[in-house]
Amino acid sequence: MIKAEQKPVEEIISYLEPYNKILLSGCGACVTVCHSGGEKEVALLASCLKMARNNGGKNLEIIEMTPARQCEPEFALELAEIIAGVDAVLSLSCGVGVQTLARNFKSAVIIPGVNTVFMGETTAHGIWEERCQACGNCILEKTGGVCPIARCAKQLLNGPCGGSSQGICEIKRDTDCAWQLIYDRLKSLGQLTKLSEMIPAKNWGTESRDKGPRKIVREDLTI
Ligand code: SF4
Ligand code: SF4
Repeated sequence: MIKAEQKPVEEIISYLEPYNKILLSGCGACVTVCHSGGEKEVALLASCLKMARNNGGKNLEIIEMTPARQCEPEFALELAEIIAGVDAVLSLSCGVGVQTLARNFKSAVIIPGVNTVFMGETTAHGIWEERCQACGNCILEKTGGVCPIARCAKQLLNGPCGGSSQGICEIKRDTDCAWQLIYDRLKSLGQLTKLSEMIPAKNWGTESRDKGPRKIVREDLTI
């Protein structure tokens, strides 16, 4: 899932300075799971923003909503009537949801309230770790299900780098060496011979960026 962290409140307050009535919109999916933009965070932030504005002697009217998935137009469009009646929207969805609102509500001011950080998994209660950088050509079959792009500090496709010590990364001393994890996993699967297969360098330019944003088109979908 996509992971995000709420922006500093002072930054959000500064963005909202010109506005007196806003929609504070969370998202019921990824940002709810990582506790940065769900219904509860919407309520807490709304209270905080109102208090801050009141302390400055001004009023801030906030309408709270948390659509199921802000990045899906069918849910984003449920906000249409409310957006038409506010000065701006503060969105606690990831950057995708922010852009869904911007695309569908052309004259509305949409302000991000979180920083979208990575795609990751929950590794313990309250801890989320990066697992994928959406490279567009997954190599997890070759690496035992451990992603060196997201998890190796040097993003080595054919590691390790030689600096790993006791299974710990030389760059980040509190982090496991991704290539040690890959080695251990392939060993336990009886697939160590995979390490003798060179993984070719990725062509980041043509795979991802030189033709603009990547797109998935499914022409077989009928509904
Ligand atoms: S190789 Fe890593 S970055 Fe690329 S798609 Fe697979 S998990 Fe994501
Ligand atoms: S020690 Fe391991 S994880 Fe760290 S940079 Fe080297 S190969 Fe990558």
